[in-house]
Amino acid sequence: MCRHLGWLGNPVSLSALMLEPAHGLVVQSYAPRRQKHGLVNADGWGAGFFDGDTPRRWRSAAPLWGDASFASVAPAIRSTCVVAAVRSASVGMPVEPSASAPFTDGRWLLSHNGLVDRSVLPASSTAESVVDSAVLAALIFHRGLDALGDTVAEVGAADPGARLNILAANGSRVLATTWGDTLSVLRTDDGVVVASEPYDDDPRWEDVPDRHLVDVTDSCVKMIPLKGSA
Ligand code: GLN
Repeated sequence: MCRHLGWLGNPVSLSALMLEPAHGLVVQSYAPRRQKHGLVNADGWGAGFFDGDTPRRWRSAAPLWGDASFASVAPAIRSTCVVAAVRSASVGMPVEPSASAPFTDGRWLLSHNGLVDRSVLPASSTAESVVDSAVLAALIFHRGLDALGDTVAEVGAADPGARLNILAANGSRVLATTWGDTLSVLRTDDGVVVASEPYDDDPRWEDVPDRHLVDVTDSCVKMIPLKGSA
């Protein structure tokens, strides 16, 4: 995924997070402002949200800007915890709904912004697609999200060219890493947004330094350097 977004806070609609902001994910799908790799994110999208403890997803291999059905229902889908993304497929990767984030193990929703050599990852029988992001997601789920920072640092050491920005949520916690791509955090009175790039020009957006772990729980945001950070 080339641009992703997470939310933890009061109930908010998918439309308010993805479609309504001046530079929300739908605009980022054709005119991202901070993307370093790829120009547009037209190879699919996904919206994941928690319905109580249950993660639910709507994924597509088509551009988000053309999905009138999603735009119609997105104002009516509200959640306290969301993971959404728009995708620019890496060269050689399949374009199919199952290759669009968020991926899930039934408890977590997870998106990957970046690229990793699949030969450094263990073969997986549980990955949802052969796309690198799905194979990486399967490894992260297998190792457990408490080990996210260590897993990212280890994969980054095994593939020095890898870009490993991960965004994951389980309904009460949002975790994100920076490893080669941009990430920003917005704290509001209603909750916390973690996004590949600011979706508007609110001066409260903070940039996350590279090679950090962001850990968001109920109104608490921690930023922790990862192993291998400068
Ligand atoms: N490598 C992943 C894919 O092909 C993610 C791509 C990206 O972040 N642009 O989907």
